[in-house]
Parts: sequence; C-alpha cells; structure tokens
Amino acid sequence: MISTDVCIIGAGPAGASTSLMLSKLGISHYIVDKANFPRDKTCGDGLILYVFKVLKLIDPKLLKAFINHPKFIHTWKGELHVSDTIGIKIHKKENALHAPIFYGKRIDFDQFLVDQLPSSFATIDLGNPALSFTPQNNGIIVKLKNGKEVHSKVIIGADGLQSIVSKKLAGNSIDKTRTSIFISAYFKNLKHLPKDNEAEIRILYKGIPLFFYIFPLPNGEANVSLGGQSTAIQQHKISLKTEIEHIIKTHPKIAHKFTKAKRLSNWRGWGIPCNFGHLKVSGDRFMLVGDSAGLANAFYKEGVGTGMMSGIIAANKIKECLKTDSFKEKDLYDYESRLETELGKLLKYSRGALKLVTYKNSFKRGVFIFKKLIERKVDAIIDSRTY
Ligand SMILES: Cc1cc2nc3c(=O)[nH]c(=O)nc-3n(C[C@H](O)[C@H](O)[C@H](O)COP(=O)(O)OP(=O)(O)OC[C@H]3O[C@@H](n4cnc5c(N)ncnc54)[C@H](O)[C@@H]3O)c2cc1C
Repeated sequence: MISTDVCIIGAGPAGASTSLMLSKLGISHYIVDKANFPRDKTCGDGLILYVFKVLKLIDPKLLKAFINHPKFIHTWKGELHVSDTIGIKIHKKENALHAPIFYGKRIDFDQFLVDQLPSSFATIDLGNPALSFTPQNNGIIVKLKNGKEVHSKVIIGADGLQSIVSKKLAGNSIDKTRTSIFISAYFKNLKHLPKDNEAEIRILYKGIPLFFYIFPLPNGEANVSLGGQSTAIQQHKISLKTEIEHIIKTHPKIAHKFTKAKRLSNWRGWGIPCNFGHLKVSGDRFMLVGDSAGLANAFYKEGVGTGMMSGIIAANKIKECLKTDSFKEKDLYDYESRLETELGKLLKYSRGALKLVTYKNSFKRGVFIFKKLIERKVDAIIDSRTY
C-alpha cells in the first residue's frame, strides 16, 4: 500500500495545476491518469484568461516558458460574429504584458504541464486508471487498474466530464441540460483567414444557436469546431458533422476559406459541462476540480483556465486542512464558496449570455445598441482574469 497526503485522479490541466501547486506548497501527493502521455483531448485549443494567471501563480518562469514555447502561438485580437454584419471585437493594445489569447494543440499544452510535474513531493503514475474508492477512518484507499492501492487523506477528482470521483464519491451524474456538445477537427491550407492569428467565432442559427470556431495553430494548421447546448441539439435532431460540413461548403463568409483546405483528422466530439452550482463539488475526503466540477464557461466554452484555477484553490484548501489533519465534509465545505468567489460571476454571466443568444433578433439588436459597452466589459474581464 502506498501512503500519501493527497491522491489526484486525472493529470489534465486541472489535475496537473493542483499537483504543481501542491508541490509548491511542499505537500506530498500521488497523481494518476488513465492515459499515457502525450495524450490528446478533444478541444478548440484556445487558451485564455486564467491559464496565464495560474501559470504565473505557480511560477512566473513557467509563464515565460509557455509564452516562448514554439508550439504555442498568440493573438491580440478576436471577433465574435453575432451575424454577418455585427460583431464584438477583442482588440487588446500590444502594450499589455502578453497577448490575451494563445492557441496550441492540447496534446502539446497538456504535455507541457505534465513535463513540469516531477518534484520531490509528487509521485506520477500515468497509464493507470483509478477504479474504486474505499473510505477508511483515517483516509481513503484508491484502487488502480494495475492492482496498486493508494491510501491518502483526501482525493482530488480531476478526471473530467465522465469523472468517476464525481459519480462514486459525490453521487453526481452528467446533466445534459447544462452541458454543451462540440465536434472539432484539424485542417490545413485554409485561405483568407483574418490577419494576425485573429480568433474567429460565429454564432450561426439553425433553429437554435450554434457556435462555430476557427482557431489558427502553428504550422499553418487550424482547429475548426461547431457545437451548442446538448439537449437543444438532440431535440432539433441536428447532426453536428453534417451541419459543419454544410457550413464549410456553403456559408458565404466561410466557404471561400475552405476551397483548398484539407482535413487532417476525423471529426471528434465531446461534452463541455457548465453545471457548477448544480452539483456537489466537495464532501468527506474529496474535492472536484475542472470539468468534473462543471467549471467550463457556458458561453465561450473555456474550461482549461477555470479548471486550472480550481486546482490552485483546492491545493490551498488542502494546506489549511492539513494543519488540523481533518478532511471531513464540514472542513471542505467552503471550497465551493471559494470557487464561487473567484469564478462564480464569470460563469453566471456566461450562462446568462447563452440564454440571451437563443433570442436571435433581440440578441442581435442588443449587441448592435450596446456593442461599445460590451466590448469595454469584455476588455475589463480579460484584464482582471488574465494578468
Ligand atoms: C470540442 C471542444 C472544444 C473546447 N474548446 C476549448 C477551448 O478552446 N478552450 C478551453 O479553455 N476549453 C475548451 N474546451 C473545454 C476543455 O477541453 C475542458 O474544459 C478541459 O479539458 C477540462 O480540463 P480537466 O483537466 O478538468 O479535464 P480533462 O482535460 O478532460 O482531463 C481529465 C483527465 O482525467 C483522466 N481520467 C479520466 N478518468 C480517469 C480515471 N478513472 N483514472 C485516472 N485518470 C482518469 C483523463 O485521461 C484525462 O487526462 C473544449 C471542449 C470541447 C469538447
């Protein structure tokens, strides 16, 4: 039996950030992932807001290494096209510390984080799924697929959308009404993309709002994705694959970019959970971080940065609990309110914005009238949650 203070299930951005912060705080832990790394994750590959803040919190040198990494590119600009004529622009002045949007394939970003994990406080066990949890008086035992058993004082569930920690310890289940579903694929040879790596996001209506993204990547590749609210897509019998192939062949603002394009991968789909506030995120000897805590942003689907930030908050909470060596439900209870304090407003706004988008004409009119105000608000959000 292996004995440690903390066992983290999942080494994606949320689990890796928890581990890095625990190492910084000098807390011994075991981190396990079912996948061998480098491992891929279906994503839009856009990195914003909290990603940079967390890297800097862990170590300013880590942020610098990320910014200078050849596999990540950046932009100072982006546009959310609400219709063919109305858009909300992000246009950061280039005198900020660094660009507000980076792009990089998740296989590279997640590996970048995992490469930082080795420390005298971390034991890393990849390619080894966690199977079950057995609560004890003085801790909890995690059984791994290869037969190993890890005894720890507290478990961190960082195991994503289909988290077994969330299911088995918290009793949560996936809430499709608060989940988005997206598909994405890699392309090369796109033409006429906006200048300076500008992010292109379009809201397209097919009875319900669908979000279409083109995020440029290094080496002239791009990540192209489409998705929307999960139950609405089901109810409207929308096939995202059929729809996105139709869009890239026929849409007047999009098709000309794809005339010479070559798809490099299959369309892959996955869910994005936006149900923080509607599920249990801590209890006797466990806390959930990242997607397992439903922390993705409902409107623009960012879950990497919010997940990483939750890892920092969980690690700090563990440090406090270690002082009294108590990890009961009542000791971990205020973890949720700390998440709420840091991320609650952002996630609430994003859920509100997602509701407004469904009222197509009113939304367009609202954006037309309040465009400048919205752009100032977006700018302020970027400033306060990025730098
Ligand atoms: C199509 C799409 C586009 C997206 N675009 C963006 C975007 O552009 N920007 C953005 O910020 N977010 C985006 N997201 C959301 C983002 O991908 C997630 O929010 C993010 O990956 C959450 O990180 P995480 O660490 O919580 O979970 P994950 O990245 O899912 O990591 C969970 C880890 O747990 C491991 N695991 C699972 N079960 C077990 C087990 N039993 N034992 C051990 N290990 C286990 C997995 O192997 C995995 O490595 C997108 C999502 C989708 C689907």
